[in-house]
Amino acid sequence: MTVRTRFAPSPTGYLHVGGARTALFNWLYARKHNGKFILRVEDTDAARNTEEARQAIFDGMNWLGLDWDEGPQVGGEYGPYQQSQRNDIYDEYFEKILSAGRVYEDDGAWRFRFDRKPVTMNDLVCGEVTIDYRDASNTPDMVVKRSDGSYVFHFVNVVDDLTMKMSHVIRGEDHLMNTPKHLQLFEALGAEPPQYAHIPLILNPNGSKMSKRDEGAAVGDYPRQGFLSEAVVNFITLLGWSSKTDEEIFSLTELIDRFSLEAVNRAPARFDLEKCKWVNQQHIARISTEAFTELAKPFVDDAGLPFADSAPAIAAVKEKVRLLSEVPAAIDFLVTDTAEPDPEAVEKAKANPNSAHLAALADHLATLTDWSADIAKEAIGVVAQANGAKPGQLMFPTRVALSGRAHGPDLGDIFTILGKEKTVARLKAF
Ligand code: GLU
Repeated sequence: MTVRTRFAPSPTGYLHVGGARTALFNWLYARKHNGKFILRVEDTDAARNTEEARQAIFDGMNWLGLDWDEGPQVGGEYGPYQQSQRNDIYDEYFEKILSAGRVYEDDGAWRFRFDRKPVTMNDLVCGEVTIDYRDASNTPDMVVKRSDGSYVFHFVNVVDDLTMKMSHVIRGEDHLMNTPKHLQLFEALGAEPPQYAHIPLILNPNGSKMSKRDEGAAVGDYPRQGFLSEAVVNFITLLGWSSKTDEEIFSLTELIDRFSLEAVNRAPARFDLEKCKWVNQQHIARISTEAFTELAKPFVDDAGLPFADSAPAIAAVKEKVRLLSEVPAAIDFLVTDTAEPDPEAVEKAKANPNSAHLAALADHLATLTDWSADIAKEAIGVVAQANGAKPGQLMFPTRVALSGRAHGPDLGDIFTILGKEKTVARLKAF
Protein backbone atom coordinates (compact mmCIF):
# COMPACT_ATOMS: atom_id res chain seq x y z
CA MET A 1 0.00 0.00 0.00
CA THR A 2 1.32 3.41 -0.89
CA VAL A 3 1.49 5.70 2.09
CA ARG A 4 -0.45 8.92 1.49
CA THR A 5 -0.67 11.49 4.25
CA ARG A 6 -1.97 15.03 4.28
CA PHE A 7 -1.95 18.28 6.14
CA ALA A 8 -5.40 19.85 6.01
CA PRO A 9 -5.24 23.31 7.55
CA SER A 10 -8.06 25.81 7.66
CA PRO A 11 -6.58 29.14 6.55
CA THR A 12 -8.03 31.25 9.33
CA GLY A 13 -4.90 32.62 11.01
CA TYR A 14 -1.17 32.26 10.78
CA LEU A 15 0.54 28.90 10.77
CA HIS A 16 1.03 28.01 14.42
CA VAL A 17 3.32 25.51 16.04
CA GLY A 18 0.57 22.95 16.56
CA GLY A 19 -0.36 23.03 12.88
CA ALA A 20 3.26 22.91 11.83
CA ARG A 21 3.78 19.85 14.00
CA THR A 22 0.80 18.11 12.39
CA ALA A 23 2.21 18.94 8.96
CA LEU A 24 5.65 17.78 10.02
CA PHE A 25 4.55 14.41 11.42
CA ASN A 26 2.56 13.70 8.24
CA TRP A 27 5.50 14.80 6.11
CA LEU A 28 8.02 12.72 8.06
CA TYR A 29 5.79 9.67 7.87
CA ALA A 30 5.33 10.04 4.12
CA ARG A 31 9.01 10.66 3.48
CA LYS A 32 10.05 7.75 5.67
CA HIS A 33 7.78 5.35 3.80
CA ASN A 34 8.48 6.73 0.34
CA GLY A 35 4.90 7.88 0.20
CA LYS A 36 3.17 11.06 -0.85
CA PHE A 37 2.48 14.09 1.27
CA ILE A 38 -0.54 16.16 0.26
CA LEU A 39 -1.52 19.67 1.22
CA ARG A 40 -5.25 20.27 1.28
CA VAL A 41 -6.68 23.63 2.18
CA GLU A 42 -9.88 23.30 4.18
CA ASP A 43 -11.30 26.66 3.25
CA THR A 44 -15.01 26.04 3.49
CA ASP A 45 -15.57 28.74 6.08
CA ALA A 46 -15.65 31.69 3.69
CA ALA A 47 -16.25 34.16 6.49
CA ARG A 48 -13.08 33.25 8.37
CA ASN A 49 -10.69 32.32 5.54
CA THR A 50 -8.21 34.85 4.26
CA GLU A 51 -5.75 34.86 1.41
CA GLU A 52 -3.14 36.11 3.86
CA ALA A 53 -3.61 33.06 6.06
CA ARG A 54 -3.34 30.77 3.04
CA GLN A 55 -0.08 32.44 2.09
CA ALA A 56 1.22 32.17 5.67
CA ILE A 57 0.69 28.40 5.51
CA PHE A 58 2.63 28.12 2.26
CA ASP A 59 5.41 30.39 3.55
CA GLY A 60 5.70 28.55 6.85
CA MET A 61 5.86 25.16 5.19
CA ASN A 62 8.38 26.36 2.64
CA TRP A 63 10.58 27.78 5.36
CA LEU A 64 10.43 24.53 7.34
CA GLY A 65 11.24 22.60 4.17
CA LEU A 66 8.00 20.63 4.14
CA ASP A 67 7.42 20.21 0.43
CA TRP A 68 4.16 18.72 -0.74
CA ASP A 69 3.77 16.29 -3.63
CA GLU A 70 0.18 17.26 -4.38
CA GLY A 71 -1.74 20.36 -3.47
CA PRO A 72 -2.10 24.03 -4.29
CA GLN A 73 0.61 25.37 -6.60
CA VAL A 74 1.79 21.88 -7.60
CA GLY A 75 -1.50 20.21 -8.57
CA GLY A 76 -1.97 16.44 -8.64
CA GLU A 77 -4.23 13.62 -9.71
CA TYR A 78 -6.85 14.04 -7.01
CA GLY A 79 -7.43 17.77 -7.03
CA PRO A 80 -8.62 20.39 -6.72
CA TYR A 81 -6.87 20.66 -3.35
CA GLN A 82 -8.99 23.47 -1.97
CA GLN A 83 -12.28 22.49 -0.47
CA SER A 84 -13.94 25.62 -1.79
CA GLN A 85 -13.45 24.20 -5.30
CA ARG A 86 -14.74 20.71 -4.60
CA ASN A 87 -18.45 21.25 -4.22
CA ASP A 88 -19.38 19.04 -7.19
CA ILE A 89 -17.54 16.16 -5.58
CA TYR A 90 -19.36 16.72 -2.26
CA ASP A 91 -22.72 16.82 -4.08
CA GLU A 92 -21.91 13.54 -5.77
CA TYR A 93 -21.05 11.84 -2.48
CA PHE A 94 -24.02 13.36 -0.75
CA GLU A 95 -26.18 11.77 -3.48
CA LYS A 96 -24.72 8.40 -2.53
CA ILE A 97 -25.69 8.54 1.11
CA LEU A 98 -29.00 10.09 0.16
CA SER A 99 -29.91 7.28 -2.19
CA ALA A 100 -28.69 4.74 0.37
CA GLY A 101 -31.22 6.22 2.77
CA ARG A 102 -28.59 7.38 5.24
CA VAL A 103 -29.66 11.04 5.38
CA TYR A 104 -32.93 12.71 6.15
CA GLU A 105 -34.15 16.24 6.11
CA ASP A 106 -34.60 18.06 9.37
CA ASP A 107 -35.64 21.70 9.36
CA GLY A 108 -33.99 22.31 5.98
CA ALA A 109 -30.74 20.70 7.06
CA TRP A 110 -29.70 17.12 6.31
CA ARG A 111 -28.82 14.69 9.04
CA PHE A 112 -26.75 11.58 8.73
CA ARG A 113 -28.32 8.51 10.31
CA PHE A 114 -25.72 6.88 12.55
CA ASP A 115 -25.59 3.14 12.58
CA ARG A 116 -26.79 2.38 16.11
CA LYS A 117 -23.92 0.20 17.34
CA PRO A 118 -20.60 0.61 19.16
CA VAL A 119 -17.85 1.88 16.90
CA THR A 120 -14.28 1.06 17.84
CA MET A 121 -11.27 2.67 16.33
CA ASN A 122 -7.72 1.53 16.66
CA ASP A 123 -5.74 4.68 16.85
CA LEU A 124 -2.05 4.28 16.10
CA VAL A 125 -1.15 6.52 19.03
CA CYS A 126 -4.13 6.42 21.39
CA GLY A 127 -5.01 2.76 20.99
CA GLU A 128 -8.59 1.49 21.11
CA VAL A 129 -11.33 4.05 21.51
CA THR A 130 -14.98 3.07 21.41
CA ILE A 131 -18.02 5.25 21.02
CA ASP A 132 -21.34 3.61 21.60
CA TYR A 133 -23.96 4.88 19.18
CA ARG A 134 -26.77 2.71 20.55
CA ASP A 135 -28.16 5.47 22.68
CA ALA A 136 -29.31 8.15 20.25
CA SER A 137 -29.89 10.65 23.03
CA ASN A 138 -26.12 10.76 23.61
CA THR A 139 -25.19 10.55 19.97
CA PRO A 140 -27.85 12.33 17.95
CA ASP A 141 -27.68 11.97 14.17
CA MET A 142 -25.33 14.61 12.86
CA VAL A 143 -25.97 17.35 10.37
CA VAL A 144 -23.86 16.86 7.25
CA LYS A 145 -25.47 19.50 5.05
CA ARG A 146 -26.75 22.79 6.37
CA SER A 147 -30.00 24.41 5.31
CA ASP A 148 -28.00 26.91 3.23
CA GLY A 149 -26.65 23.98 1.20
CA SER A 150 -23.12 24.06 2.61
CA TYR A 151 -21.52 20.89 3.92
CA VAL A 152 -20.13 20.47 7.41
CA PHE A 153 -16.53 19.69 8.27
CA HIS A 154 -17.05 15.99 9.05
CA PHE A 155 -18.56 15.28 5.67
CA VAL A 156 -16.09 17.13 3.46
CA ASN A 157 -13.15 15.91 5.50
CA VAL A 158 -14.21 12.29 4.96
CA VAL A 159 -15.06 12.72 1.28
CA ASP A 160 -11.68 14.32 0.70
CA ASP A 161 -9.72 11.67 2.60
CA LEU A 162 -11.61 9.04 0.64
CA THR A 163 -11.27 10.58 -2.82
CA MET A 164 -7.69 11.67 -2.20
CA LYS A 165 -6.90 8.08 -1.21
CA MET A 166 -5.35 8.86 2.15
CA SER A 167 -3.73 5.90 3.85
CA HIS A 168 -3.01 7.67 7.16
CA VAL A 169 -4.56 10.62 8.91
CA ILE A 170 -2.26 12.10 11.50
CA ARG A 171 -3.88 15.00 13.34
CA GLY A 172 -4.24 16.68 16.70
CA GLU A 173 -5.88 14.95 19.62
CA ASP A 174 -8.63 17.56 19.51
CA HIS A 175 -10.02 15.53 16.59
CA LEU A 176 -9.98 12.18 18.38
CA MET A 177 -13.68 12.25 19.22
CA ASN A 178 -14.58 13.19 15.65
CA THR A 179 -13.06 10.05 14.27
CA PRO A 180 -15.84 7.56 15.15
CA LYS A 181 -18.21 9.86 13.22
CA HIS A 182 -15.81 9.75 10.31
CA LEU A 183 -15.65 5.97 10.49
CA GLN A 184 -19.44 5.86 10.32
CA LEU A 185 -19.34 7.97 7.16
CA PHE A 186 -16.67 5.81 5.55
CA GLU A 187 -18.74 2.74 6.24
CA ALA A 188 -21.86 4.34 4.84
CA LEU A 189 -19.91 5.13 1.68
CA GLY A 190 -18.74 1.52 1.48
CA ALA A 191 -15.11 2.61 1.75
CA GLU A 192 -12.12 1.48 3.75
CA PRO A 193 -11.10 4.26 6.18
CA PRO A 194 -7.51 5.44 6.52
CA GLN A 195 -5.53 4.61 9.63
CA TYR A 196 -5.73 7.32 12.25
CA ALA A 197 -3.09 8.65 14.58
CA HIS A 198 -3.98 11.42 17.00
CA ILE A 199 -1.02 13.31 18.34
CA PRO A 200 -0.93 14.82 21.85
CA LEU A 201 -1.92 18.30 22.88
CA ILE A 202 0.73 20.95 23.29
CA LEU A 203 0.86 22.65 26.68
CA ASN A 204 2.68 25.75 27.85
CA PRO A 205 5.38 25.35 30.50
CA ASN A 206 2.76 26.28 33.12
CA GLY A 207 0.50 23.45 32.02
CA SER A 208 -2.14 25.55 30.27
CA LYS A 209 -3.16 24.58 26.75
CA MET A 210 -1.05 26.41 24.21
CA SER A 211 -3.03 29.00 22.33
CA LYS A 212 -2.40 30.86 19.10
CA ARG A 213 -1.55 33.97 21.08
CA ASP A 214 1.22 32.44 23.18
CA GLU A 215 4.81 33.44 22.66
CA GLY A 216 6.43 31.24 20.06
CA ALA A 217 3.10 30.12 18.61
CA ALA A 218 3.52 31.70 15.17
CA VAL A 219 5.90 29.86 12.86
CA GLY A 220 6.25 33.07 10.84
CA ASP A 221 8.06 34.74 13.75
CA TYR A 222 10.88 32.21 13.91
CA PRO A 223 12.99 33.27 10.90
CA ARG A 224 13.37 36.88 11.97
CA GLN A 225 14.05 35.86 15.55
CA GLY A 226 17.13 34.10 14.28
CA PHE A 227 16.15 30.45 14.38
CA LEU A 228 17.46 27.95 11.85
CA SER A 229 14.66 26.11 10.09
CA GLU A 230 16.27 22.75 10.71
CA ALA A 231 16.48 23.51 14.43
CA VAL A 232 12.80 24.47 14.54
CA VAL A 233 11.87 21.27 12.71
CA ASN A 234 13.96 19.35 15.24
CA PHE A 235 12.35 21.14 18.17
CA ILE A 236 8.80 20.74 16.85
CA THR A 237 9.35 17.04 16.29
CA LEU A 238 10.25 16.71 19.95
CA LEU A 239 6.78 18.01 20.82
CA GLY A 240 5.24 14.59 21.14
CA TRP A 241 7.92 12.38 19.66
CA SER A 242 11.11 11.14 21.23
CA SER A 243 13.95 9.00 19.97
CA LYS A 244 13.71 6.83 23.11
CA THR A 245 17.41 7.54 23.63
CA ASP A 246 19.22 10.52 25.18
CA GLU A 247 19.70 12.02 21.75
CA GLU A 248 17.67 15.07 20.94
CA ILE A 249 19.51 16.79 18.13
CA PHE A 250 18.71 15.53 14.66
CA SER A 251 19.05 16.71 11.11
CA LEU A 252 16.10 16.43 8.77
CA THR A 253 17.41 13.21 7.24
CA GLU A 254 18.04 11.73 10.67
CA LEU A 255 14.47 12.57 11.65
CA ILE A 256 13.07 10.90 8.55
CA ASP A 257 15.16 7.88 9.37
CA ARG A 258 14.14 7.70 13.04
CA PHE A 259 10.54 8.86 13.01
CA SER A 260 7.79 6.41 13.83
CA LEU A 261 4.24 6.73 15.06
CA GLU A 262 4.91 4.08 17.71
CA ALA A 263 7.33 6.51 19.34
CA VAL A 264 4.75 9.31 19.56
CA ASN A 265 3.83 9.91 23.20
CA ARG A 266 0.33 9.80 24.53
CA ALA A 267 1.07 12.39 27.20
CA PRO A 268 0.72 16.06 26.30
CA ALA A 269 3.83 17.79 24.98
CA ARG A 270 5.42 20.77 26.74
CA PHE A 271 6.24 23.81 24.67
CA ASP A 272 9.30 25.61 25.94
CA LEU A 273 10.83 28.37 23.82
CA GLU A 274 14.04 28.25 25.88
CA LYS A 275 14.46 24.65 24.83
CA CYS A 276 13.99 25.71 21.23
CA LYS A 277 16.80 28.23 21.63
CA TRP A 278 19.02 25.51 23.05
CA VAL A 279 18.20 23.23 20.12
CA ASN A 280 19.02 26.14 17.81
CA GLN A 281 22.40 26.59 19.45
CA GLN A 282 23.16 22.89 18.94
CA HIS A 283 22.32 23.22 15.25
CA ILE A 284 24.46 26.35 14.91
CA ALA A 285 27.34 24.36 16.40
CA ARG A 286 26.86 21.71 13.72
CA ILE A 287 26.77 23.83 10.60
CA SER A 288 29.89 25.07 8.85
CA THR A 289 31.34 28.49 9.58
CA GLU A 290 30.57 29.48 5.97
CA ALA A 291 26.93 28.47 6.32
CA PHE A 292 26.66 30.28 9.64
CA THR A 293 28.18 33.43 8.16
CA GLU A 294 25.68 33.40 5.29
CA LEU A 295 22.74 32.87 7.66
CA ALA A 296 23.96 35.68 9.91
CA LYS A 297 24.33 38.12 6.99
CA PRO A 298 20.80 39.57 6.97
CA PHE A 299 21.01 40.24 10.71
CA VAL A 300 24.42 41.89 10.40
CA ASP A 301 23.18 43.99 7.46
CA ASP A 302 20.00 45.00 9.28
CA ALA A 303 22.03 46.18 12.24
CA GLY A 304 24.02 48.43 9.90
CA LEU A 305 27.29 46.59 10.54
CA PRO A 306 29.81 46.14 7.71
CA PHE A 307 29.27 42.52 6.68
CA ALA A 308 32.22 42.57 4.28
CA ASP A 309 34.64 42.96 7.19
CA SER A 310 32.76 40.77 9.64
CA ALA A 311 33.63 37.20 8.64
CA PRO A 312 36.33 36.60 11.33
CA ALA A 313 34.12 38.19 14.00
CA ILE A 314 31.11 36.10 12.98
CA ALA A 315 33.23 32.98 13.10
CA ALA A 316 34.46 33.94 16.58
CA VAL A 317 30.93 34.06 18.00
CA LYS A 318 29.56 30.93 16.30
CA GLU A 319 29.75 28.88 19.49
CA LYS A 320 28.58 31.78 21.66
CA VAL A 321 25.14 32.65 20.34
CA ARG A 322 21.85 30.81 20.56
CA LEU A 323 20.11 32.83 17.86
CA LEU A 324 21.31 34.41 14.62
CA SER A 325 19.74 37.64 15.83
CA GLU A 326 22.28 37.72 18.67
CA VAL A 327 25.18 37.99 16.23
CA PRO A 328 25.20 41.81 15.71
CA ALA A 329 25.37 42.60 19.43
CA ALA A 330 28.02 39.92 19.87
CA ILE A 331 30.33 41.28 17.16
CA ASP A 332 29.71 45.03 17.03
CA PHE A 333 32.77 45.90 19.16
CA LEU A 334 34.93 43.83 16.81
CA VAL A 335 33.78 45.47 13.59
CA THR A 336 33.17 49.08 14.65
CA ASP A 337 34.69 51.51 17.13
CA THR A 338 31.35 52.92 18.12
CA ALA A 339 29.76 50.02 20.00
CA GLU A 340 28.11 51.08 23.25
CA PRO A 341 29.89 49.49 26.22
CA ASP A 342 27.84 47.83 28.92
CA PRO A 343 28.02 50.27 31.86
CA GLU A 344 27.70 47.51 34.42
CA ALA A 345 30.65 45.57 33.01
CA VAL A 346 32.73 48.74 32.79
CA GLU A 347 31.95 49.69 36.37
CA LYS A 348 32.83 46.22 37.57
CA ALA A 349 36.12 46.22 35.66
CA LYS A 350 37.07 49.68 36.89
CA ALA A 351 36.43 48.61 40.47
CA ASN A 352 38.76 45.65 39.91
CA PRO A 353 42.25 46.53 41.30
CA ASN A 354 43.90 44.62 38.43
CA SER A 355 42.69 47.14 35.89
CA ALA A 356 45.56 49.29 37.22
CA HIS A 357 47.89 47.02 35.22
CA LEU A 358 46.18 47.62 31.88
CA ALA A 359 48.40 50.59 31.04
CA ALA A 360 51.47 48.43 31.61
CA LEU A 361 49.91 45.74 29.45
CA ALA A 362 49.27 48.28 26.69
CA ASP A 363 52.88 49.46 26.83
CA HIS A 364 54.17 45.93 26.71
CA LEU A 365 51.93 44.95 23.80
CA ALA A 366 53.03 48.06 21.91
CA THR A 367 56.61 46.77 21.90
CA LEU A 368 55.71 43.45 20.28
CA THR A 369 56.83 42.99 16.69
CA ASP A 370 54.85 39.82 16.02
CA TRP A 371 51.13 39.71 16.70
CA SER A 372 49.04 36.61 17.37
CA ALA A 373 46.55 35.42 19.94
CA ASP A 374 49.20 33.32 21.65
CA ILE A 375 51.78 36.07 21.76
CA ALA A 376 49.28 38.55 23.18
CA LYS A 377 48.05 36.04 25.78
CA GLU A 378 51.62 35.34 26.77
CA ALA A 379 52.13 39.08 27.26
CA ILE A 380 49.27 39.09 29.78
CA GLY A 381 51.18 36.49 31.77
CA VAL A 382 54.38 38.51 31.67
CA VAL A 383 52.72 41.75 32.77
CA ALA A 384 50.68 40.01 35.47
CA GLN A 385 53.75 38.39 36.93
CA ALA A 386 55.73 41.64 36.88
CA ASN A 387 52.91 43.25 38.88
CA GLY A 388 52.38 40.49 41.38
CA ALA A 389 49.10 39.33 39.85
CA LYS A 390 47.93 36.06 38.25
CA PRO A 391 47.29 36.04 34.48
CA GLY A 392 43.69 35.07 35.11
CA GLN A 393 43.16 38.21 37.18
CA LEU A 394 44.07 40.39 34.24
CA MET A 395 41.74 38.64 31.82
CA PHE A 396 38.51 40.20 32.99
CA PRO A 397 39.60 43.86 32.93
CA THR A 398 41.33 43.22 29.59
CA ARG A 399 38.16 41.74 28.13
CA VAL A 400 36.04 44.64 29.31
CA ALA A 401 38.57 47.23 28.12
CA LEU A 402 38.59 45.68 24.64
CA SER A 403 34.94 44.72 24.26
CA GLY A 404 32.94 46.73 26.77
CA ARG A 405 31.32 43.44 27.83
CA ALA A 406 31.72 40.96 30.62
CA HIS A 407 31.32 38.00 28.23
CA GLY A 408 32.05 37.32 24.62
CA PRO A 409 34.31 35.50 22.25
CA ASP A 410 37.61 33.97 23.28
CA LEU A 411 40.10 36.67 24.30
CA GLY A 412 42.56 35.28 21.76
CA ASP A 413 40.00 35.83 18.98
CA ILE A 414 39.48 39.39 20.20
CA PHE A 415 43.24 40.09 20.04
CA THR A 416 43.53 38.65 16.54
CA ILE A 417 40.52 40.41 15.12
CA LEU A 418 41.22 43.81 16.67
CA GLY A 419 44.90 43.66 15.81
CA LYS A 420 47.72 45.22 17.76
CA GLU A 421 47.01 48.87 17.17
CA LYS A 422 43.36 48.83 18.25
CA THR A 423 44.11 46.55 21.18
CA VAL A 424 46.74 48.92 22.52
CA ALA A 425 44.54 51.97 21.90
CA ARG A 426 41.53 50.51 23.68
CA LEU A 427 43.59 49.39 26.67
CA LYS A 428 45.05 52.89 26.95
CA ALA A 429 41.70 54.58 26.55
CA PHE A 430 40.27 52.44 29.33
N1 GLU B 1 -9.12 21.54 8.92
C1 GLU B 1 -9.03 20.68 10.05
C2 GLU B 1 -8.23 21.38 11.13
O1 GLU B 1 -7.60 22.34 10.88
C3 GLU B 1 -8.37 19.38 9.62
C4 GLU B 1 -8.54 18.23 10.52
C5 GLU B 1 -7.91 16.99 9.98
O2 GLU B 1 -6.67 16.99 9.87
O3 GLU B 1 -8.59 16.07 9.63
O4 GLU B 1 -8.24 21.04 12.25
